[in-house]
Amino acid sequence: MRINNLLFLAYAFFFVTMQQACAQRKSAAQKSIGPTTLSQNMKSAKWREQNHIVNRDSAYLNPYYGIQKLKGGNMRFEMSHSIHPRQDPALIKSLSEGQAPFATIVGCSDSRVSSEILFDQGFGDLFVARTAGQVMAEATFATIEYAYLNLGTKLVVVLGHSGCGAVSAAMKRPESPPGHIVTLINSIKPAALAAEQMGQNKAEHAVRLNVINQVKELRQLESVLSRAHEKGEILIVGAVYDLSNGKVVFLEETMQNLPPTRYAKTDITGL
Ligand SMILES: [Zn+2]
Repeated sequence: MRINNLLFLAYAFFFVTMQQACAQRKSAAQKSIGPTTLSQNMKSAKWREQNHIVNRDSAYLNPYYGIQKLKGGNMRFEMSHSIHPRQDPALIKSLSEGQAPFATIVGCSDSRVSSEILFDQGFGDLFVARTAGQVMAEATFATIEYAYLNLGTKLVVVLGHSGCGAVSAAMKRPESPPGHIVTLINSIKPAALAAEQMGQNKAEHAVRLNVINQVKELRQLESVLSRAHEKGEILIVGAVYDLSNGKVVFLEETMQNLPPTRYAKTDITGL
């Protein structure tokens, strides 16, 4: 009888302790991602600087600030310090009245390349068009134009990624691909052929060249995007995401020799 009582007490103690530990863990987790805590942290200049926060309105008004905001978000993601901004119910409800995304991301459909996650952005931040190999289609063009003309989105990022299956397929150049796959292969073929003339890491070169070709295509697209690009009203750049380490690298080749622009090119990380 006494042994049974002791066993019961030991079990009760273990059960209560475990419940408390779980509650503490749950509380800590909620504290780290809760919208209230996040909005309080945002009031601290030091915290914003440490977390590479860029003012959202500045990013919307100036595409160069937009790039800084994307870079800052990716730095958080890469370091496993994502803050998951703009995901609280009140914000989601307010967005039912309209949106003002600060960047259009033209990315691959790959399940491992989700723009909001890898740039640590929230609802209403990114306008996203995705196809395999981020291959351009008429609807992709219209999507980018819509964001620019109707939503005022001035930054377009073509986002390729390492290990892209569509690029790999284009490099193999199968003779008779099934269904509509040939559309992807034909679109990526120029980059795949150019990459074959390069030394090692042909697949990496193909991914990068494909992004550069797509950026050029958008900058020359009549008439909305080409005019906006020539006037310096829109910024169209390329970037590559590395699946292995979570890092996005903006391609210097797409950041140089840009037309004159009214936007200030100041690095404003930490605002
Ligand atoms: Zn891909």
